[in-house]
Amino acid sequence: MFNSLSDRLTSTFKNLRGKGRLSESDINATIRDIRLALIDADVATPVVREFTGRIRERALGAEVSAALNPGQQVVKIVNEELVEVLGGKTRELQLAKRPPTVIMLAGLQGSGKTTFAGKLARHLRDKGHFPVLVAADLQRPNAVTQLEVVAERAGVPCFAPERGNEGGHDTASTEGTQSYGDPVWVAQAGVGQAKVRQYDVVIVDTAGRLAVDENLMQQAADIRAAIQPDEVLFVIDAMIGQAAIETALAFQKGVDFTGVVLSKLDGDARGGAALSVSSVTGRPIMYSSIGEQTKDIEVFHPDRMASRILD
Ligand code: GDP
Repeated sequence: MFNSLSDRLTSTFKNLRGKGRLSESDINATIRDIRLALIDADVATPVVREFTGRIRERALGAEVSAALNPGQQVVKIVNEELVEVLGGKTRELQLAKRPPTVIMLAGLQGSGKTTFAGKLARHLRDKGHFPVLVAADLQRPNAVTQLEVVAERAGVPCFAPERGNEGGHDTASTEGTQSYGDPVWVAQAGVGQAKVRQYDVVIVDTAGRLAVDENLMQQAADIRAAIQPDEVLFVIDAMIGQAAIETALAFQKGVDFTGVVLSKLDGDARGGAALSVSSVTGRPIMYSSIGEQTKDIEVFHPDRMASRILD
């Protein structure tokens, strides 16, 4: 991840080494190289424009620092602006004042939501919480079973709607008139069960589709309205490239997510999604998902990611 962008930026900065003073044309050439590197990394055009604009402005009017030569000064500016574009400060999960904390996951099918549900549950369990997963993705035939497997691997319980005689799992009661197929009801029942059984974090997995879809979005919005989550995390595949912006904006409009999870950051994606989503939606990236195993989760730190890119 980011390897190519990282290499491109590093070699750009090499050209500035040893220069006693940077002329306007040095700065313009540097900005041009940064712009091309970002475009090749699939960063959204408006983000590239704003980012390079800010760097140019700051580099031209750069404060003279005795400790840094002009090249280092530019690297420092790029680093600071990268931190900003990645969301600024690390944003911690907001825990409810009165448990349980309800976390809803949303995103396209295949984005890594279900896998992430297990990772987050395990991460929180390791920090001393008692999380429970709720299977409100009733769209995909195997989604409920998949979440149950994920829960087992994470060592946490899973509330799922009852299906026939499969048994063996901790089920939300489906008494009453609601059918097995109503994800809003399942989500509500799951949160209700968590309260009764005193779990302190509820992670609700919701359905995804291959592309943004009105019905899917309405269903997710209905779940959101019904369970009033403390956090809505939008999971996005870092490999999605230029489609990141359109997808993120559609989910922001549909479910007004509070934070972003970048998944598959272990892949060889060029990084555009990571560098675009937060600045376009104004929502922080809170976690990265870096593999298929339950342990492959990291809290996202914009400053550390920026340093990694510029390393
Ligand atoms: P969902 O449809 O959004 O619930 O997506 P899944 O959780 O089922 O993930 C889709 C596929 O991506 C599965 O094959 C996962 O093993 C894989 N996957 C999920 N997260 C990651 C990740 O961080 N890195 C990698 N390499 N694969 C992942």
